[in-house]
Amino acid sequence: MKKTVSVLLSLVLLLSCGVTAFAEGASDDSFGAYEHVFIVGIDGMGTSFELVDSPNFDRIFADNAYRHDAHTETLTVSAQNWGSILTGVDYMTHGFTNGSCEENERGSDSPNNSIFYYARQQFPDAELVSFNNWDAINHGIIENDINVRKINRGTDPLVTDAIVNYFEKGNVPKLMFVQLDSVDHAAHTYGGFSKQYYSAAAKADVFLGDIYDAIDAKGLMKNSLFIVVADHGETTNGHGGTTKEESSAVLAVAGHSVNKVSLNEDVHNRDVSAIALYALGIEKPEHFISAVPAELFGESREKTVEENPLQGAARVWRKFLYTFVRLINLIAGIFD
Ligand SMILES: [Zn+2]
Repeated sequence: MKKTVSVLLSLVLLLSCGVTAFAEGASDDSFGAYEHVFIVGIDGMGTSFELVDSPNFDRIFADNAYRHDAHTETLTVSAQNWGSILTGVDYMTHGFTNGSCEENERGSDSPNNSIFYYARQQFPDAELVSFNNWDAINHGIIENDINVRKINRGTDPLVTDAIVNYFEKGNVPKLMFVQLDSVDHAAHTYGGFSKQYYSAAAKADVFLGDIYDAIDAKGLMKNSLFIVVADHGETTNGHGGTTKEESSAVLAVAGHSVNKVSLNEDVHNRDVSAIALYALGIEKPEHFISAVPAELFGESREKTVEENPLQGAARVWRKFLYTFVRLINLIAGIFD
């Protein structure tokens, strides 16, 4: 009897160990599960993928994870946010400003290294590349001594062409970052609720599609994580303030182990840095405050959830404005 009990106890113990191991394995399946990570940053996009026609965003992320209004840094300025997106800390910790990034180059001996630095540590021979329209990111945020290929072009069509050429030539990066700037440019020139702004946002979706297809044409998407993120949104006078419009930004993630899920409302645009390192199998540095959203990986791919529409009075107001702008343009077109 004693022996039977002891055998049974051992069996229970073995089984529970097995279950624990399986659970840990399951939750960790996506750590290092990707060969490549592609990050497409769209300056000033805010929540606009939900407001404009965006067939490319829709097809890429339909079965994946996204949130239109992830949190930005409390200071809704470009360098502060791109800095956090690339270094995993808040803007007060990294201290980047637009001026500092334009003026000062940055070496890897600086504090708060970028994800490119950690990728270089782990993959000494890998191809790492960053395409910028606003070249201050390549200049002042990504380190200048870790062999990252930095490509700067002054317009979004030229950036997109450079990316398409890059893949056509057979380059295969481990980590790629892209910054498109024409949406922010339209907001600064015409205002964040203007026809020109929404038109630039819709055009950004075309660039997004071209970039995605250039990667996919080389068969890379099957083992890649593809991320779209904005630094901030826009209001009538551009950005920099604390309105809901300015401090909301898209964060979308596609990949073979990504859940079809609405990302939690606590997600930040800076979480991109933790997600990218996790996918490539790089341990997150202890000082990072960015995190991999718990709901992003590890559940069944079959899981379906409700859409994640814009919420709250600010969202309703923005949708109203967008509809209003379209209506005015329609009427103006009739009398043209
Ligand atoms: Zn910006």
